[in-house]
Amino acid sequence: MTATPTAGLTFPVTPSAVPVSEQRRAEILAAPGFGKFFTDHMAVATWTQGAGWHDAAVVPYGPLQLDPAAAVLHYAQEIFEGLKAYRHADGSVWTFRPEANAARLARSARRLALPEISEEMFLEAITQLVRADEAWVPSGGESSLYLRPFVIATEAFLGVRAAHEVKFLVIASPAGAYFPGGVKPVSIWLSQHYTRAAVGGTGAAKCGGNYAASLLAQNEASENGCDQVCFLDAAENRFVEELGGMNLYFVHDDGSIVTPELTGTILEGITRDSIVELARDLGHEVSERRISIDEWREGVASGRITEVFACGTAAAVTPVGKLVSPEGELVHGGGVAGEVTMKIRNTLLDLQYGRTQDTHGWLHRI
Ligand code: PMP
Repeated sequence: MTATPTAGLTFPVTPSAVPVSEQRRAEILAAPGFGKFFTDHMAVATWTQGAGWHDAAVVPYGPLQLDPAAAVLHYAQEIFEGLKAYRHADGSVWTFRPEANAARLARSARRLALPEISEEMFLEAITQLVRADEAWVPSGGESSLYLRPFVIATEAFLGVRAAHEVKFLVIASPAGAYFPGGVKPVSIWLSQHYTRAAVGGTGAAKCGGNYAASLLAQNEASENGCDQVCFLDAAENRFVEELGGMNLYFVHDDGSIVTPELTGTILEGITRDSIVELARDLGHEVSERRISIDEWREGVASGRITEVFACGTAAAVTPVGKLVSPEGELVHGGGVAGEVTMKIRNTLLDLQYGRTQDTHGWLHRI
């Protein structure tokens, strides 16, 4: 499907007549958790076959009216994004590489046969929404306003084909620090029975179906006392792909770091991509290649792999404390956060929160 021209599409704001009270908002922002509370507004636009994108606006947050036959409810024609707005010490609000989220949403749209959204339209939607709900951007610590753009097939039609009516929405939710009590390494369950994505499938797209299919493996991880699940490749069940919602990095004893290469079955994480550059800035040799589960196990056992960490928008950088599977537990770095992991974590967060100079031009002022 080709991109629909969206030049000049604006998102005029209709302010909510019943915004959350200042007092209640302050209570929420004091302990927002993650994904539980939503701001006063949402951005919305409609696409119809032939007409393209239209009726873009920022409107009061509220339930959608969907026909029960809406295609998304039956065939999961849906894609989404996740990015954050960060408040800097001077009160200004910034997003981090939103152009990269726009590009990934466009790639996901192509894979799910949904209409693309131009970078311009994507940026306009998040800018107008965050401006309307600026008071909801928390300050202090590692808090942020999480933005969730998504696209759903709304056409009421049960035939299996790409929908002729689609909606784009952006909602926003204040997020507290991922590790309020200080950074703690996570434990990882190695999924043996379930894979996340096969060659030719939707692994590189950010579509809801990928996450629905990962939940049983995540439940298995929880039942085995683990925080997260790690998936291996579907073809050989041998190469490390990624976690349910984060990419992985391996730090070696010579300071070099390695992340699984993008094979089309891994989500192209924006944090992952940023760390390739930031780690190089810090003097680390960075490579992207296949890593087998045996290399992981043997590397940790021999001391060649000194640290393992996961990365993503939600938690930035998370140390991996151990890998668990029916074969046993493999503890990493004594179960404490490694030095390189923490250096990369701080470098990324300092950049996102405006504490260091943005030499890459990654910050986008709202
Ligand atoms: N992998 C998966 C499966 C994810 O859902 C995410 C979160 N979007 C990531 C990796 C990390 O991506 P990003 O750094 O863009 O948040």
